[in-house]
Amino acid sequence: MYFTVALYFCFIFVSFSRSSDVSDRFDYLSDVCVVIESTDKITTDINGNYNSDADDGEPENDIQTQIAFAKKQEETIKTINQEIDVRNKILEQQDLQIKEQKEKLAQQHLKITTQNRINLLLVSMVLLVVGIGFVIYRGFLAKKRFTIALEKKNQAIDQQSLTLDAKNKELEQFAYIASHDLQEPLDTISSFIGLIAEDYGDSFDDVGKESLTYIQDASCRMKNLINELLQYSRLGKNKEYTNVDCQAVLDDLKVVLQSVLEEKRAKINISNLPIVKGSEIELGLLFQNLISNAIKFMKPNTIPEIHISCIQKTDVKDVSKKFWQFSVKDNGIGIPQEHKERIFAIFQRLHSREEYQGTGIGLAHCKKIVESHGGDIWLDSEQRKGSTFYFTIPV
Ligand code: ADP
Repeated sequence: MYFTVALYFCFIFVSFSRSSDVSDRFDYLSDVCVVIESTDKITTDINGNYNSDADDGEPENDIQTQIAFAKKQEETIKTINQEIDVRNKILEQQDLQIKEQKEKLAQQHLKITTQNRINLLLVSMVLLVVGIGFVIYRGFLAKKRFTIALEKKNQAIDQQSLTLDAKNKELEQFAYIASHDLQEPLDTISSFIGLIAEDYGDSFDDVGKESLTYIQDASCRMKNLINELLQYSRLGKNKEYTNVDCQAVLDDLKVVLQSVLEEKRAKINISNLPIVKGSEIELGLLFQNLISNAIKFMKPNTIPEIHISCIQKTDVKDVSKKFWQFSVKDNGIGIPQEHKERIFAIFQRLHSREEYQGTGIGLAHCKKIVESHGGDIWLDSEQRKGSTFYFTIPV
């Protein structure tokens, strides 16, 4: 009996020590309980048998029964151990599977993290592209708006210059018609005054004779003015340009101006004059006006000295454009700084007729000729030292 109980405890200890999990240990405990129950039964049976056997007086049979029972228990324990081994193996396999699953999960996690990072990067890139696109689009819109505004302004300027052109043409036409139509009655007045002076001049008293002379002078001046106005309105109309040899133009001019040059003992130095594209008559008139002024506006008791030269230059804004720059330098009275622009306007004079003769249209002629040839005209001057007039003609 004591041996059997000791066997039970041995069994319990072995089962507990072999199980690794709490639930398994409970399973074993339940198995052990079953064993204890069956052992109790057997013990009860044995006790019963023993008692009956004892009653029968056969102790040897008891021992054999107990040995048989112990063997049976041992086999049961073996079977249970085998089951435990099988379960342990299953558990080990499950452990392995769990480890594999964990590794897979870790790999999945890594993949998901990497994917997330890639997604974040992609989203950032898309946002960046969208941002850059937006900025470019806004720039494009601003540029478009600016271009439209500029186009509108250009159109307005074009329209204005067209209107100005039309008005200029209208004015030129008016000046031409007015001067042309004025010529005829003025000629009539001049010829009748001449007739009156011839036929009745002697019968006039001194005041009458003086008045007659004033009227003759005034009509003569008016005739000059009208002629120059007519000439001005005709300038720039001739657009059929030819090769003009400026040296030859000046040689011809020297002949035309010979009497004035000799009278004033004026010296003209000419150097490096090129052949340019333009209107020979207009360029001749341009040089004539500048040379005449250089002689006219001389300092008292000085010999006029005029230097005419030319150099080729390149446009600073557009290096592909070249032009001739002419200069006409004199040693005359000079022009005050504040009148440098004004003197190029029509009928603008700085002196009275008593000081210097003239109509105030010469430099306006020069400006119109130069501009109609595509050039510019300006001057440098120092009072009482002289002036240099510059003008350009495109090559
Ligand atoms: P005009 O010679 O008939 O007076 P211009 O138009 O030729 O008219 O010249 C306008 C004015 O410019 C002149 O009245 C004169 O005061 C000034 N001017 C022109 N050329 C010279 C010069 N070479 N030296 C000094 N003054 C000049």
